[in-house]
Amino acid sequence: MSLHELVGLNLCDLMLDGVLNSTENAIKWLRKFGLISQERICHKCGSAMRLGRQANTADGQSWRCRKKECKTTSSIRKHSFFSRSNVSLVECIRLIFLWAEGDNSVGKICRYTKLCNHTVIDWCGFLREVCSEDLKINAAPIGGPGQKVAINETHVPRRKPGNPSSRDESMWRRKRSVQNFFPEILEAIKRQYTL
Ligand SMILES: [Zn+2]
Repeated sequence: MSLHELVGLNLCDLMLDGVLNSTENAIKWLRKFGLISQERICHKCGSAMRLGRQANTADGQSWRCRKKECKTTSSIRKHSFFSRSNVSLVECIRLIFLWAEGDNSVGKICRYTKLCNHTVIDWCGFLREVCSEDLKINAAPIGGPGQKVAINETHVPRRKPGNPSSRDESMWRRKRSVQNFFPEILEAIKRQYTL
């Protein structure tokens, strides 16, 4: 499913589509666009895993190995951008949307998401890091925007808190002659986080 379908979308559409109504819907939506794993292989035995309910996890679902003797479980967030935090996936989507609008203050994002100041600042930093990395990837000789390329190890983002620069974010936004940065940032996340 292409993220370009999301051009022209607003927060209201996301709500009307039910994406922001429940974690379950948010998970379906993120899987549809390949932002969290669509399938998973057990790292212990190599069998296919099944996504199922898991009451004791924040997301209410997790992967479980189909093999009876194994039954290893694995977080739905593993390897994804969302593994950086345990903020609910509904709030993550809402926050990314509000960030993408570009003119929302931290205070406004807090009010809309009911997340605390500290969390919103952290998330804006994570998104800024995606912008910085995206600028590097697109500047690299291995490929250009819109081209499918194998991303070299050196271009994989640092998972440690980096030094996200607001200048990179502005530059990243300027390089795109679009009105809606939501699909653009989701594409960039998808490129950087190999599931
Ligand atoms: Zn297994």
